[in-house]
Amino acid sequence: ADQPDAFAGGPLDLRGWRHVYSGKVRDLYEPDLPALGGVHPLGDVVLVVASDRVSAYDHALAPGIPDKGVVLTQLSLWWFDQLADLVPNHVVSTEASAEPGDGLVPDVVAGRAMICRRLEMFPVECVARGYLTGSGLAEYRESGEVTGIPLPSGLVDGSRLPEPIFTPATKAEAGEHDENVPFAEVARRIGDDAAARLRDLTLAVYSRAEQVARERGVILADTKLEFGVDPVTGVTVLGDEVLTPDSSRFWPAAEWEPGHAQPSFDKQFVRDWLTSPESGWDRASDVPPPALPADVVERTRERYLEAYERLTGATLR
Ligand code: ATP
Ligand code: MG
Repeated sequence: ADQPDAFAGGPLDLRGWRHVYSGKVRDLYEPDLPALGGVHPLGDVVLVVASDRVSAYDHALAPGIPDKGVVLTQLSLWWFDQLADLVPNHVVSTEASAEPGDGLVPDVVAGRAMICRRLEMFPVECVARGYLTGSGLAEYRESGEVTGIPLPSGLVDGSRLPEPIFTPATKAEAGEHDENVPFAEVARRIGDDAAARLRDLTLAVYSRAEQVARERGVILADTKLEFGVDPVTGVTVLGDEVLTPDSSRFWPAAEWEPGHAQPSFDKQFVRDWLTSPESGWDRASDVPPPALPADVVERTRERYLEAYERLTGATLR
């Protein structure tokens, strides 16, 4: 597990846990109940492990970014704390143990894993935007609206919006793109009350986080949240990862200049290199991208660590 790419591949063999799902970045495990004597001491939980996998332009890339999964998990945990008075979250424990049969976080994934309440996830990507870029900008250029919300004319890439907006997307199957949808479509799918709850929670989280980030010289341009229902209590709970460079656009406030793409605390170096002549890769082809050079990997790793350090004021190294 000390090789640099040890956490960039598929699921791991974790004593006491059975692999159930792999997304682009996270692997989910459920308790191996027979091995635990029939019941998990913490109830109906899942183990969420953030890998070092990195993707861009819908391709998984090699190699991974060492420690990326640790940054994602530690930053999520820090934000869950900052938000605890606004919304309950799914974290149950991050306690690690070398003892295979106790149902805690296995030592080998300590730092990158959390034991979470198992939720029934809403099939909605809850996006809040305070600034215009990405798919929001593309929609605005076509229609003057984002998910049916009309915006003033004259906005450009990176413009601050008059007020933050909720621009939901439906969660795509693996390999498909998430699709921006109007609020009414979310309401049709999950009901009026649940849709309104997700919108209000998403905007409340965005406002709080935007303020916290701003105090640290970072603009939170937009972010994607995922909520679920705790099947035992019926309460709507914030799940997944929160306010990480993978789920959010963080821009250094000092360099903000609307009118073009902003520098950001994420996989920008990866995207820039892939689309540069140096990589020799044609994004329009269906040839998979080439391996990332060591310096692109290292600079990307630095960028993730810097995001953590800028936001939390703490260090991971
Ligand atoms: P993407 O890479 O586009 O985000 P993804 O969401 O499928 O794809 P990951 O984020 O890598 O992939 O995997 C995390 C998965 O775990 C998501 O499907 C998410 O909805 C799910 N999830 C997160 N928290 C919980 C929870 N507490 N209970 C059940 N499922 C959860
Ligand atoms: Mg996800």
